[in-house]
Amino acid sequence: MDRVIGIDLGTTNSCVAVMEGDTPVVIPNRGGYKTTPSIVAVTEAGKRLVGHIAKRQAITNAENTVYAAKRLIGRKWNSPQVKNALLTSSYTIVEGPHADVRIKLRDKTYSVPEVSSMVLQEMKIIAEDYLGESVEKAVVTVPAYFNDNQRQATKDSGLIAGLDVIRIINEPTAASLAYGFGKGLDKTVAVYDLGGGTFDISILEIGAHGVFKVISTTGDTFLGGEDFDARVIDWIVQGFTEEHEVDLRQDRMALQRLRDAAEKAKCELSSVRETEINLPFIISAGRNEALHLQRSLSRETLETLTEDLVERTVDICRQALADAKLDVDEIDDVILVGGMTRMPAIQKSVAEFFERDPNKGVHPDEVVALGAAIQGAALVDERHEMILLDVTPHALGIMTFGSLFEELIPQNTTVPTSRRKIFTTSRDNQTAVKILVMQGESKQADENELLGEFILTGLRRAPRGEVEIEVSFDINTDGIVSVHAKDLETGQNQSIQVTATSGLTQDEISTMIEGAKDYMVERRSDEEFEGVRQEAETHIIEIERLFPEVERVVGGADFGRDAISKARNVLDRARKAIAAKDKQAVKDHLEQLARTERMFKGVVARSE
Ligand code: AMP
Repeated sequence: MDRVIGIDLGTTNSCVAVMEGDTPVVIPNRGGYKTTPSIVAVTEAGKRLVGHIAKRQAITNAENTVYAAKRLIGRKWNSPQVKNALLTSSYTIVEGPHADVRIKLRDKTYSVPEVSSMVLQEMKIIAEDYLGESVEKAVVTVPAYFNDNQRQATKDSGLIAGLDVIRIINEPTAASLAYGFGKGLDKTVAVYDLGGGTFDISILEIGAHGVFKVISTTGDTFLGGEDFDARVIDWIVQGFTEEHEVDLRQDRMALQRLRDAAEKAKCELSSVRETEINLPFIISAGRNEALHLQRSLSRETLETLTEDLVERTVDICRQALADAKLDVDEIDDVILVGGMTRMPAIQKSVAEFFERDPNKGVHPDEVVALGAAIQGAALVDERHEMILLDVTPHALGIMTFGSLFEELIPQNTTVPTSRRKIFTTSRDNQTAVKILVMQGESKQADENELLGEFILTGLRRAPRGEVEIEVSFDINTDGIVSVHAKDLETGQNQSIQVTATSGLTQDEISTMIEGAKDYMVERRSDEEFEGVRQEAETHIIEIERLFPEVERVVGGADFGRDAISKARNVLDRARKAIAAKDKQAVKDHLEQLARTERMFKGVVARSE
């Protein structure tokens, strides 16, 4: 049976888990960390870096380091979110060929799914190293509030990374699975998820027979830890400008250092009441002079700076309860997910709103990946029995006369579902209608996301309002939407399957898949080289250490001189092979190096 890994592809950090027996476990990366920064960079030498190693070099390579790509995934170039990112990102964002978003790193331009695929590929490698086998299938989580294009873009990222994403599930649903799976609970729970870039709240019913039913879900895909960091950055920049009349934002390197320091201070203030922000030589001030930044930030100030952000999450919680038609006292438990929920002000506000202390039993950074692993196992192994009933996170409908949005399937409808509605023509003698399929909550159609369009032709010529057209929407369990339009009088009909788009064509995806495969081959080969290099270096160091002693003991004799010169030769050749990065040549020298080391050790042992 195929192993399925569960991946929480986070804005800031990602986490991978797998089911071992009946228990989901988080897989640590090589550094022993259970989460990996969702950061990708390209070095001057053109080398790709992902995770902690990319984060560590972010300050000195800010322009070529991508963080928070999830905020851009599946977005159109002209969306307000992209405009916002253009103002705040230290890397270069450009328009793609399909009105999508691309990121420029060094001399190459990458699509957002491609950047995310690099993070997914890293998670795949972490899992494969741990399991000792190749992994092809994954369940990947997304914020509940992601629209179809964002989901499709996430699926494409998996595809590029060499993963068959067998299901995309919502992060809060995954969290509730990890919380309630196999426990025979009968509860209504709220999952409050505040991560690096997004906020989600879902209300779920967990039934005794493994039924997980989402009742309502809502959120904001542009509200997260980074907004809290931005407030701290603004506060520092403003203070610095007042003091020195220098705008720190003008300097990319300074801004990146500031960003790191602001996030660090925010995290520290979850456990201490006051912290120092200390950035020496933050910016140059004329010739041979530099300005230093030193400020202390209190928890109280942080709370004041971010009060409205916390309040916004509480308003959204209120909305989720209203959508679920539940009162606060009908919620049995509150689960906190996402790194930001460690902030005391958030815990306090959530406790106040829900009138109970949040559950302490789940790990906010790991619970989503664990839930994804549970779902993955359940999809391929019927022993893990459960039923997941999710909802449509956004309303679906069509654009009607006057650019208004006419809803057919309301937000929070359990899927699968189907709905139909009768429409009429808006002009006399109209023989065709254009059906624009949209997703969103605004009454104004152009404020919603366009999913697809088609034209129903051959309508009977008649005064406006006379011809009746039935439009029906169907959503299956995978969330795929089909739309049909039918002229009720003539039976003439048209339909489309609304396939969301990540902004990439099939050809582009295929090329990217090949690119990812090449990377994998190169990376495995680099790793193999690193393995033999380390083995060779260990022998070389040991031989070098023994040299003086061997020379002292046998250097006077002919056979000794001969052996020493041979040993020097072996060392020279091995060193050259290492310098040339010639894996095979280094491998070929390993045996000789080992033999020389044994011989040297023998000589030294005999002399003692
Ligand atoms: P996630 O997307 O769930 O990994 O959450 C990442 C966000 O949580 C980032 O904005 C972090 O700065 C934030 N975060 C992590 N640890 C803490 C902490 N101890 N206190 C406050 N925020 C934190």
